[in-house]
Amino acid sequence: MRHVLEARRAVVPDPVHGLAIRHARVVVEGSRIAEVVIDPTDPAPPGTDDVGDLLLTPAFVNAHTHLAMSGLRGLDVAAGAAGNLVESLFFRVERAMTADDVRALARVGAMEALLHGTAVVWDHYYFPDALLDAFDDVGLAGIVAPPLQDLAGPGADGWEEALATTARLADTPDLATRGHGVAVGPHATDTVSDALWVRAAALADRLHLPIHAHLAQSIDELERAHDRAGTTPLGLLDRLGVLDQGAGWLLVHGLYLSDADLDRVDPARHTLVACPRAHALFAWPVDVTRWTDRGVPWVVATDAPVCNDAVDVQRELSALARYRTDAVAHGAAHAAFRASGSADDGRAVWEARTTAFHRHAALQDPVQLLKRVWTRPGALHPALPCGAIAADRVAHLALWDLDHPACWPGDDPLRTLALGAPQGALSQLMVAGRWRTSRGAHATELLANPAWREARREATARRTALLARVGL
Ligand SMILES: [Zn+2]
Repeated sequence: MRHVLEARRAVVPDPVHGLAIRHARVVVEGSRIAEVVIDPTDPAPPGTDDVGDLLLTPAFVNAHTHLAMSGLRGLDVAAGAAGNLVESLFFRVERAMTADDVRALARVGAMEALLHGTAVVWDHYYFPDALLDAFDDVGLAGIVAPPLQDLAGPGADGWEEALATTARLADTPDLATRGHGVAVGPHATDTVSDALWVRAAALADRLHLPIHAHLAQSIDELERAHDRAGTTPLGLLDRLGVLDQGAGWLLVHGLYLSDADLDRVDPARHTLVACPRAHALFAWPVDVTRWTDRGVPWVVATDAPVCNDAVDVQRELSALARYRTDAVAHGAAHAAFRASGSADDGRAVWEARTTAFHRHAALQDPVQLLKRVWTRPGALHPALPCGAIAADRVAHLALWDLDHPACWPGDDPLRTLALGAPQGALSQLMVAGRWRTSRGAHATELLANPAWREARREATARRTALLARVGL
């Protein structure tokens, strides 16, 4: 299938500003963007699809999800978050899940992602074949990482099969034409032995796959790394000599990263993944400016809907923007003011706020924010580059109606896309070269589809049965 799109306003890479809005003609062939002509002067060829005043952008890339955990939404996560949420609640339910459960529950998460303008997710979960079926059922693209665990976790008895599945999927040619891919998925440093880390990294190296792993996500993981290796989780991986293997790394969470750890990060190969709303619930807001200051690349993702409540990666950007001045209310200056109530101490609070405001300015910079859900995550899989309107990228595209009340008057659409709530203005979404919906009818068409009603019915029934099996 070939599409020629003519957009007077298209968000394209810009060498000076990072992103720019330009008149562009975009040629899509199959699942890829074949050509982008900026400011075309020749007449549009016959059959060109003129998108009028709609804004053409890359679709969002969500670099870390567990879509099937949509089925756990509504459980008492807050109680679990008092301790190790992953072990106390998630592992317990996941041990009882079947492949059919994963397919049914992931469809719901995939639908939510599509509704918010996401075309591709990096999903780290059990039963990867069921996940890929769920993506196809709904029309989302996904890069699956079959979880590798041998020390603990629901997959601890199945790591050999997970390795074999990873290799099989990497050797499945039609996966990429459907927009899908595979990554090697060691779960975390406290669920994976040294020997399995070495095997996983060797597999990633041999197949030129990225490695997608949780890192330093709990106090337990930090303490276990010290018990096992006398160092931090990233120090442990460094000592194993695996960090220079594979086609890049997604290191998710990074809550416990020392200064020495940040020196271990190779900006050419490693990317940290921040999940702001999930962090606020199960941990704390990470100081991502510290990562930036140390030259560490990072992207934004949602994590699971159960520990975040939404599979909406755009919404994570506005959560991140709040970090700019969040610390002021908890700092020493405000504590002094609370005790004295004096104008001098009040002035010191304002100075602390001003310092924070400047230090974290990039957290409210629309281009910097959008690059963390478009450009940078789109570069994480060597075989499936996306996240930019540029030649050879997978054609994951979105069209936005800037006359919608959420975007009007449309003078600074990048700011609205980064910091506003533009979902209602999403007119149409293209996933891997195929329009997923009709223009102007994105949400209504997705939700009116009888297949969605049947998918929701099955998901509800399976969720009820699953929770009953584990006594929740
Ligand atoms: Zn996760």
